[in-house]
Amino acid sequence: MTPPQRDTPPTSQATAELRERYRIERERRVRPEGTRQYRSTTAEFGYFAEDPYVAEPARREPLRDVVDVAVVGGGFGGILAGARLRREGLAKVRVVEQGGDFGGTWYWNRYPGIHCDVESHVYLPMLDETGYVPEWKYAPGEEIRRHAMRIAEQFGLYEDALFSTTVTALTWDESAHQWVVDTDRGDRFRATYVVTATGTLSEPKLPGIPGIEDYKGHTFHTSRWDYGYTGGGPDGAMTGLAGKRVGVVGTGATGVQAIPMLAEDAGHLYVFQRTPSAVDVRGQRRMTPREVGADRPGWAAERRENFLRIVSGDDVERDLVTDRWTECAGLLEKLLPSFRRDGAPDFEATYEAADHATMDRIRARVTAEVADPATAAALQPWYRYACKRPTFSDKYLPAFNRDNVTLVDTADTHGIERMTVNGVVVGGVEYEVDCLVLATGFSVGVSGITSGKLPVTGSGGIRFLDAFTQRGPRTLHGFTSHGFPNLFMMGPLQNASSVNFTHILDEQAVHAAALIAAAEKRNAVVEPTPEAVDAWLAVCAEDAPDHEWFHAECTPGYYNREGRGRPNGPNAYPYGAVAFHDMLRRWREQDIDDVLRRTARQEDRRGLNTRTEPVRGWAAIPATR
Ligand code: NDP
Repeated sequence: MTPPQRDTPPTSQATAELRERYRIERERRVRPEGTRQYRSTTAEFGYFAEDPYVAEPARREPLRDVVDVAVVGGGFGGILAGARLRREGLAKVRVVEQGGDFGGTWYWNRYPGIHCDVESHVYLPMLDETGYVPEWKYAPGEEIRRHAMRIAEQFGLYEDALFSTTVTALTWDESAHQWVVDTDRGDRFRATYVVTATGTLSEPKLPGIPGIEDYKGHTFHTSRWDYGYTGGGPDGAMTGLAGKRVGVVGTGATGVQAIPMLAEDAGHLYVFQRTPSAVDVRGQRRMTPREVGADRPGWAAERRENFLRIVSGDDVERDLVTDRWTECAGLLEKLLPSFRRDGAPDFEATYEAADHATMDRIRARVTAEVADPATAAALQPWYRYACKRPTFSDKYLPAFNRDNVTLVDTADTHGIERMTVNGVVVGGVEYEVDCLVLATGFSVGVSGITSGKLPVTGSGGIRFLDAFTQRGPRTLHGFTSHGFPNLFMMGPLQNASSVNFTHILDEQAVHAAALIAAAEKRNAVVEPTPEAVDAWLAVCAEDAPDHEWFHAECTPGYYNREGRGRPNGPNAYPYGAVAFHDMLRRWREQDIDDVLRRTARQEDRRGLNTRTEPVRGWAAIPATR
């Protein structure tokens, strides 16, 4: 695929050469099948996605009751929605979760070495509310999972939660003004409101390697770590790997954390790499409550906002977090207008020079840390900083100096060639392994209501996916959609995003809870008018950055649909998360009535009355269409 043209020619010979090197390295890795190169963990590969933490789901009778709110998903999105709803006084909030407990990604991912990549004191939500202060700058996964459970406990979410349960359909009952919620455990309960918080990277994916089904050794995906086989736990001590030949496929954020741990415990470790990660300094350390100012009320909210402002390109007096995220902020979010706001004609050149310098520093770090020159060369990343998720480790690169670790570069064959009964073939060489760990990431956008896996039927029988596929996603602020009353979506679509995604989710939870509380107070249902949706799409499109050429020039990965680029369009609020949150706050103060349609609620709930009346600016929809 030829990348779309951009209007800035290289400003120097060095830039031209670097662009050419990036192009060549990209071509070595692009596969014609794009995202179709992967296999999903369904059907014959469904066992890769089974829950290793629950031997058998607890038996229970199917539910037929009525709740105030059904929340689909028990990760941080669902937990925060539940907590904020409880704070708004909603009594019966039922979180429905596929896993055996709360935690979402931190429930599933328990691989050795798992840690937060964003500073704990800004990543862990509701620290002010729970009084919890993390001990380490980057918290271990188990601490984060415990914190998720802590919030759920504190806000009484366990009481009504359903675990090991998947929502299979959501159907709006227009006469009762309620959602009917079906699950795979035979439940059919009703909810006045539904919040979907199904995550973006939730389904593990497998490499579509020919012969993967022939392999007879032990294998599992990192998000379902088999400690029964390896022994040990997230802190290592995997005695089951002693003397074993272990292979690991994948060197993304997960691989970078797990590989040093595997290197310590495996007899021999083969790391099958297609694209090296940019591995920057970690700087893990203990932090005292005093150091983070945890003796002051509101300290965590202030720190989190400070981080968001920096990575969004806003001016701040002081950088409270001071790590590589804040240092490299201008490179990561460079497509945001907040970074382009000076309108300097040489912005592209300045950006490219800064990116060049940062990537040179990261490449030099590899040379300094890895003794063998050929291994060091293969570990150097040749793409722009924002092309892939940056990673941080002080243990990863030195692991390649160990005698029991071999790096197998698969770039020339666009990844692993094939698998055999005994192992992995790259460049015609067979590497026999007793165990193959797949650190191959997750499918994007395959869960939840925008994927079609969870069928949603709104007013007048309109199906959510039909509505979206016919005319593209059409929401107000990313939360609500015309034709789907009292349904709230959490996620980045037509909303905001940032590296500290729990912050984004918390603002979304606050907003959804405020809308629901307003609807309760005014006996109303929540649904935007088509005009409000049109207006929002126009805002999302008005200054949308041209990221098509940027991502099309990047090395393949899930950020750019495996090398196909990322289409421009009204996919997100274009001015960044800080501006988005400010806008939402103002909107809640001034315009919230625009989405409220008053109903005679008590009668409605019994299905006796479907009278509707506009609150303000509402073109009343007939009760049946
Ligand atoms: P990624 O999708 O980032 O990485 C998958 C890896 O598998 C890549 O290195 C990929 O190579 C490799 N791969 C896939 N197919 C093949 C093949 N056929 N042959 C060889 N290699 C192959 O998944 P991760 O689980 O690492 O990370 C996903 C996301 O989860 C991160 O981007 C981050 O957002 C989040 N995360 C956050 C963490 C944190 O905050 N602590 C920790 C871990 C993950 P290639 O690059 O060439 O495609």
